[in-house]
Amino acid sequence: MNGALLHGSWKIITIWGIPIRVHFSWLIVFGLITWSLSTYYFPKAAPDLPAASQWLKGTIGALLLFASVTFHELAHSFVSRKYRITILSITLFIFGGVAQMKGEPPTPKAELRIAIAGPLSSFFLSGVFFTLYTVARSPGMKALYVYLAQINLILGTFNLIPGFPMDGGRVLRSIIWEKTKDYFYATKKASGLGQKVALFFIFFGLFSILTGFAGGFWLMLVGWFLYTAAQSSYQQASLQETLSGVKVKDVMTKNIVMLNSSITVDEAVNGYFLKYGYGGFPILEDGRFLGIITLKEVRDVPREDWVKVKVLNILIPRNREWEVSSEDDTLEALEVMIMKDKGRLAVTDNDKIIGLITRNGIARYIQIMEK
Ligand SMILES: [Zn+2]
Repeated sequence: MNGALLHGSWKIITIWGIPIRVHFSWLIVFGLITWSLSTYYFPKAAPDLPAASQWLKGTIGALLLFASVTFHELAHSFVSRKYRITILSITLFIFGGVAQMKGEPPTPKAELRIAIAGPLSSFFLSGVFFTLYTVARSPGMKALYVYLAQINLILGTFNLIPGFPMDGGRVLRSIIWEKTKDYFYATKKASGLGQKVALFFIFFGLFSILTGFAGGFWLMLVGWFLYTAAQSSYQQASLQETLSGVKVKDVMTKNIVMLNSSITVDEAVNGYFLKYGYGGFPILEDGRFLGIITLKEVRDVPREDWVKVKVLNILIPRNREWEVSSEDDTLEALEVMIMKDKGRLAVTDNDKIIGLITRNGIARYIQIMEK
């Protein structure tokens, strides 16, 4: 889903070559669940147990919930691998688990199967724990199993709510995709509905809080999280749609203004930055492309030194990672810019720079072309 989850998370185990990571927010949930099971649920369900046993069962319950969420994500991953989609990692965080896939499902059928595998695995686990509950003798074990049966049932059902990017939303997308043969349209429809579902959670959560139900706060958080995820899926789909098949050469600026490496920062500011209003310029030396200078590098030089310092001394040297070819896909160029946090990339042909592709330029192209 997003790289932000990778920060603040660490790997605890590897299954089928898939690193299972835990985000720090999960630890809060883990603590809360252990605490509420040990001090509220078990004392009520099995009052005769000693406190130590209630804490032990509470901890086991939380750990098995953790394993259940992992099992759900592994089920998605298991089916994904059948379609040769690489699973980069599984991260458990405050709202559950996320399997990070490299690439999208190739067909609606693949998507349907990958999506449905999660809830089905949760229902399966729910059945297993329910069976254990019926054969268990001690009230403590019965309470533990019935809790896990319930929580897995909730997990499976909740995920089937038809709002993208939840599993149910993916099922919905696969159906619309199959019907219309239009992947982007299906994604926009499913994530549009996802936003509505999320808003419903937020308002329902708010209503619950106002009527005195503390769990409403949780619903609001989940709603807010889902809303953001659905919104970014929607934006990404419409972006991909607009930019599909668009090459760098279609969007790049061809008549670029370039600076000679020997000029001073003062000359660059007055003669170029202020005159043209661009955020950055390529630097040349004897026709060879050396690098790029942006407003950031200029700002790092104290004002009184502007007349002394040459642009050659402060430019960002060219780096193949920040360069694209005119035949590359614009979408890929945009991904590089986002990943490397760059506002512009040089379009090069060996030693020569033949254009610039900028975020602003892509944004302008989208504004003109988007339906
Ligand atoms: Zn799922």
